[in-house]
Amino acid sequence: MDIPRIFTITESAHRIHNPFTPEKLATLGAALRLEPGARVLDLGSGSGEMLCTWARDYGITGVGIDMSPVFTEQAKLRAEELGVADRVGFIHGDAAGYVADEKVGVAACLGATWIGGGVAGTIGLLAKSLCPGGIILIGEPYWRQLPPSEDVARGCGAHSVSDFLMLPELLASFNDLNYDVVEMVLADQDGWDRYEAAKWLTMRRWLDANPDDDFAKEVRASLTSEPPRYAAYTREYLGWGVFALMAR
Ligand code: SAH
Repeated sequence: MDIPRIFTITESAHRIHNPFTPEKLATLGAALRLEPGARVLDLGSGSGEMLCTWARDYGITGVGIDMSPVFTEQAKLRAEELGVADRVGFIHGDAAGYVADEKVGVAACLGATWIGGGVAGTIGLLAKSLCPGGIILIGEPYWRQLPPSEDVARGCGAHSVSDFLMLPELLASFNDLNYDVVEMVLADQDGWDRYEAAKWLTMRRWLDANPDDDFAKEVRASLTSEPPRYAAYTREYLGWGVFALMAR
C-alpha cells in the first residue's frame, strides 16, 4: 500500500507536508492549550512532525496513521531523534475508516481530508475517535482570492473553483455542521514557499542521482514547470489553515 511515487520523490526531504512552518505548528500546539498526557490522533500523519514535536514540547501522547511507508518510517525515526518514541506511535496503513481503540482529546487530519471523502466526512470520521468535549483539527485549503476562471483554479492544482471555499464561507461551513470554530492558525506565503520551493531542490538532487530512472522525464518536466506555475497560481490564490472545532 503506497501513495503515488511522485510525492515520495518530491517530498522526501520535507518534515512538514503542508504550508505550515515549524513555528506555525508550534503556535497551533500552544493555541490548543494541550495538557501533558493529552492523547492526539493524526490521520494522514506524514512524517510525523506534529505528533513528535508536540510530544517533545507539550507532553502529548499520540498515534499517527499514514499510507506512505517512506513517510511512516521517517516519522518513526523522528520520534527516536526527538526522544519521544515511547509517547508517539506511527502505523502504516489506510486511515479511511480508522477509529481509535481509546478515545482521544484531539483528533486531527491536516492536508488529507480526502481520507474521509471531504471535510464533512472527515469531521464525522474523526468524531468517532473523540472524547466528549474534544477538539477536531482540520487542515484545509481555501481561496485567498477567488480564481477568475476554471483555468486559474486548475493552475492551482484544483479540479474546479468549487473544490474550495473562501475563508469566511469555509468557517461558516463548520457552523453548518454544528461545530464551533474555537481556534485557527493560517499559513502564509512564506510557508507556502517552504512547502513548494523545497520540492525543487529535492527534485533537482533526485534527477542528478537518478538520470536513467523511468520517472526522470516526469520529474524533469515538473521541475521546469513548477516554479512559474506555483508563483502565478498557488502562491497568489490558495490559502491554507488549520481549524480547531468543537461539537455544539
Ligand atoms: N498531515 C501531514 C501530511 C499531509 S500530506 C503533514 O501535515 O505533514 C498528506 C498525507 O496523507 C501524506 O503523508 C499521504 O501519505 C497521506 N495519505 C494519503 N492518503 C491516505 C490514506 N488513505 N490513509 C492514510 N494516509 C494517507
